[in-house]
Amino acid sequence: MKDSFNRTIDYVRIAVTDRCNLRCFYCMPAEGIPYEPKSHLLSYEEITRLLEVLGGMGFQKVRFTGGEPFLRKDFVQLLENTSELEAIKSIHITSNGTLLQRHIPKLKELGIKKINLSIDSLDKDRFQKITRRNDFEKVMQTFHLLVENDFKIKLNAVIMKGINTQDIIPLAELAKDYPVDVRFIEEMPFNGGYKENVEMYSARDIYADLIKHYPDLEKLPSKHGDTARLLSNPGYKGNIGVIAAFSRTFCNTCNRLRISSKGDIKSCLYDDGVFNIRDFMRSGVTNKELEDKFKEIVRLKPKDGFEAEKMRKIPTAAMQSMSSIGG
Ligand code: SAM
Ligand code: SF4
Repeated sequence: MKDSFNRTIDYVRIAVTDRCNLRCFYCMPAEGIPYEPKSHLLSYEEITRLLEVLGGMGFQKVRFTGGEPFLRKDFVQLLENTSELEAIKSIHITSNGTLLQRHIPKLKELGIKKINLSIDSLDKDRFQKITRRNDFEKVMQTFHLLVENDFKIKLNAVIMKGINTQDIIPLAELAKDYPVDVRFIEEMPFNGGYKENVEMYSARDIYADLIKHYPDLEKLPSKHGDTARLLSNPGYKGNIGVIAAFSRTFCNTCNRLRISSKGDIKSCLYDDGVFNIRDFMRSGVTNKELEDKFKEIVRLKPKDGFEAEKMRKIPTAAMQSMSSIGG
């Protein structure tokens, strides 16, 4: 499906829960966020129905995220249902890696091998300070298990001034020994409202650190829907990426819609939800009506994150936690 800026929209990101077992301080306050009652979350049947409709409209890729997706009961059942949908060619998951290990055999059986793993520091104490939990070893163990089992891993690290800029090079070095893309993300103001002013360490700053350390870095051509500007360092098994999530330099190739755990559709990360598809579905609409609604939403997708932000009803992005949006 094309939007009105001629972008092909064929990727949907679905947050299956707003709950999380970590408390990353850039994502939510220490006490957590007010979670939605379980009845407000999209059921697995509802998610599968949405994917059937979207699949029929040309959507081929889904990413399940959260909150922590593996925290939701029977998440693997949803993966199983999704893998049976012919139109959905590619199933991806974003996870903090704390609860994933025991599901590795099942993921392999279902052919789901594309995992984004969030690790913001290779220093145990710093990891704990950022996530407010003591799970560093477990997450690293997950990383190694996924590598051993040939998963296609993208490692995501949010880079914050005064917190973990010293982790940029050690994390990038993982791409030397392992075939993983290590991607550095600008911090965005979606932290549950408790942290007003985010002092930016920009994509430009991150890139400057990388080029200083790796003078031979080469820019790779971008692919459809890429948010990361990917770089390769000669002799490294994986690539290094920078995601200008706050500077928003990639909107012209955007290919996605987001659906929050309670069914709010975001046609851009920076809007505050353009339509609640859960209530629409629960009102008894047909699949044709769902399809028409998605078509309208895609047609009205804003040009970029700055336009979307202008249209927000809630003035500050800092009201929301990324845990309810899905990243
Ligand atoms: N819990 C899973 C995880 O952490 O990977 C999935 C959900 S999490 C909201 C998805 C991604 O959003 C993670 O890579 C996380 O680092 C990123 N994220 C969360 N809050 C962010 C923020 N304020 N700015 C930039 N990225 C953020
Ligand atoms: Fe949880 Fe992911 Fe948010 Fe961290 S970034 S608190 S792991 S949802």
